[in-house]
Amino acid sequence: MNGEIELIRGDITTLGCDAIVNAANSSLLGGGGVDGAIHRVAGPELLAECRALGGCEPGGAKLTAGYRLPARFVIHTVGPIFGDGTADEDETLRDCYANSLALAASAGIESIAFPAISTGAYGFPIERATRIAIAAAKRWLDGERPPRRIIFCCFSETDRQVYARLLGDSA
Ligand code: ADP
Repeated sequence: MNGEIELIRGDITTLGCDAIVNAANSSLLGGGGVDGAIHRVAGPELLAECRALGGCEPGGAKLTAGYRLPARFVIHTVGPIFGDGTADEDETLRDCYANSLALAASAGIESIAFPAISTGAYGFPIERATRIAIAAAKRWLDGERPPRRIIFCCFSETDRQVYARLLGDSA
């Protein structure tokens, strides 16, 4: 692996990396959870920029400035709503990570922090989602393009423990 994966527990809005990823909804007009927290800290200019983006399909990713956040950019991605697990949820979640990383590369972003996309209000089982997140990060770091530093930012200690265990398993 040509780069590093870091794991932290905390509030993603406090991180001073180049970009943080927002688990948005398809309107990109704000919501609860991590989306609400990011908009609260970034300020109203973020919502104004998001309005001009015209939404985003599940699995897609769009870039904005970070405004009052310590991070310079926000990458907004829309995770799948978990149904019965047979409606391409895994593929869509994989796309969220891959498309966010590809967009970061095109913006020259070196460090990027991800929340546990879809595992809150969207109901994706944490362990299944974490395996997908880790596999996507490792696949990316096997390549050559930036970002070379991928941070997983878990909001809860129980989620952090799932990531720690699965990162250890796949080391
Ligand atoms: P989704 O709708 O994609 O499920 P949520 O925001 O409901 O998005 O939840 C995604 C994950 O983000 C959950 O693990 C939740 O605990 C976490 N989360 C919520 N607030 C923050 C925050 N400030 N920083 C990092 N993660 C957060």
